[in-house]
Amino acid sequence: MQPDQAYFSPLALTSALTFLPLAQSQLDYRTELRGRSDLFRHLCGGGRVRVVLVDGERMALPARSLESSRVGGGQLRLAALAGEYLPSGLAPSQDRPSALYFLGSLRGEHWFALDLGLARRLADDGQGSREGSAFLDKAGGRFDWIGLYAFAPRTSGRDAGLATSALSLAAWHSRQKHCPNCGAPTWPDQNGWAQRCEGEGQGRVLFPRVEPAVITSIVDSQDRLLLEHNTAWDPGFYSLCAGFVEAGENLEHAVRREAMEELRLPLGEVRYLGSQPWPFPASLMVGFKALALGSDIHVDGQETEDAQWMTRQEYAEALASGRMTPPGKASIARSMVEQWYGRPL
Ligand SMILES: [Zn+2]
Repeated sequence: MQPDQAYFSPLALTSALTFLPLAQSQLDYRTELRGRSDLFRHLCGGGRVRVVLVDGERMALPARSLESSRVGGGQLRLAALAGEYLPSGLAPSQDRPSALYFLGSLRGEHWFALDLGLARRLADDGQGSREGSAFLDKAGGRFDWIGLYAFAPRTSGRDAGLATSALSLAAWHSRQKHCPNCGAPTWPDQNGWAQRCEGEGQGRVLFPRVEPAVITSIVDSQDRLLLEHNTAWDPGFYSLCAGFVEAGENLEHAVRREAMEELRLPLGEVRYLGSQPWPFPASLMVGFKALALGSDIHVDGQETEDAQWMTRQEYAEALASGRMTPPGKASIARSMVEQWYGRPL
């Protein structure tokens, strides 16, 4: 077995769920290489370097992909530039930070993402190059662009994984431009996976924070599923009980607390189902299944507007009549509802 195939098995713990579009990546992160400032040039020397493009919350597809997919269907794929065609001014060097993120290796290919937003910021700060700027000016019009939510359910596991990592790092670098400790500007380091603070003797290295959130399939003794509608959601959109983990709390406590807060419903047994990243902008969704101790629910009317126990038959009818819409195909909630339902929606 190739080392990069054996390295990661993200599905080992998620077999309970049918399909998690954002957790399919088989990419070997090759973390031992991140510290090399010459990594891009070094790997280009051996060929088989591919670069995908990220801009804000969107990824680049080959031009006219969206139109042909509308007409003919079929999977979408990321635009993948050969590394040697990237202007050298966009590559990192010892004395200049770069907007290239090293995403990892798979089947002998080395994958990077170029963050156009970060590259523009570096250029504005005088840390770019003329050929780099010319590339950035033209890139927007040369490709189709798509967000992760629409892209992930319509692509391969490899490309969904590349996009999820690239968008997570891009979101972090665009949101955190100053050191939370001393306020000095920060610049990307370790091929995108860290930032270095410009103050404090340039010694402090910062890493992206991940924000865990729990989401729970709550069933009662008759195996009915609890579906709820929050005030912030589109009319008719129903999903599962969910919320962020609070400071000093473990995951199981968060599951029970959220059910009490949103529904005043105590839970019995709680079982882990699986997890997937949700980079909007930095969440990790951790899915559980829980058995409710009773069926009485009381929504708070503030965050949660409505909640209903549904049999499979009732849920099928609610979807067919358009009274309810299900969670989106990229979400872990979709997979969890389908796990209960017994087949794809
Ligand atoms: Zn600092």
